Amino acid sequence: FTTSARQVRAPSGERVGAALAYQEITDLLRALQVKDQFVSSVSHELRTPLTAVLGHLEMLCEEDLPGDVVDRLQVVRRNAERLRTLVSDLLLVAQAGEVGLEMHRGDVDLAALVGEAVETARAAADRAGVTLDADLPTSLVARVDEQRVRQVVDNLVSNGVKYTERGGSVEVVLGLVAGAVELTVRDTGIGIARDELTDVFTRFFRGGAALERHIPGTGLGLEIVSSIVSAHGGTIAVDSEPGRGSVFTVTLPV
Ligand code: ADP
Repeated sequence: FTTSARQVRAPSGERVGAALAYQEITDLLRALQVKDQFVSSVSHELRTPLTAVLGHLEMLCEEDLPGDVVDRLQVVRRNAERLRTLVSDLLLVAQAGEVGLEMHRGDVDLAALVGEAVETARAAADRAGVTLDADLPTSLVARVDEQRVRQVVDNLVSNGVKYTERGGSVEVVLGLVAGAVELTVRDTGIGIARDELTDVFTRFFRGGAALERHIPGTGLGLEIVSSIVSAHGGTIAVDSEPGRGSVFTVTLPV
């Protein structure tokens, strides 16, 4: 059931009672569950052939083939990789809706994890002409799900690079603030309109500035980021100024 309550006032303004409304939403919840189950099984089915395609492509790219064939194979491979990311993102949001995120927590050195994520993003940043800097402590251990937190950092850093124009920069800072882990990813990119700031965490949402510039994306990344952060009991916030840049701040309990 969902409930809502409202005061009832006479034309004079005097409070004469209250109205309570209960709405039965079992059917709606069941429909949402069926949708998540459907997306989850379709994603599973798509993953198997995609893995085979990628495996063969990787082998082919290593063969001694003419340059233009290799170039074309690389394009196919990049697109197959994008498809794989999309499929696993869809699987993750469907599973989160269906059964909640499964977490495997352990003691993880976040300084090392963030450092690795930054190094992984460096090639894309270099290609895009974006400077990527990190300010990390020597070590910062927290009890988190390593793979999921890696996904959070990868997503935020790659968004920073993707939504920043040539000549701009992305800065990643990790530290302990008031006893909690704080990660900030600040970029000097295209920014997000004020009235879109709360929408960026919604499934499939894409901002006007991103669409205008034809920057590719699915609108799934930040929904995944925010569900992983909540599953850890953490918070995520965004601040941005269109044309000047954005800053995403994640806090996680140690
Ligand atoms: P995607 O990047 O695949 O579109 P996300 O869920 O990661 O999906 O982001 C949702 C939207 O939020 C993006 O389409 C973009 O409009 C906006 N956005 C996210 N990160 C940034 C950023 N660092 N700078 C500007 N806009 C951003």
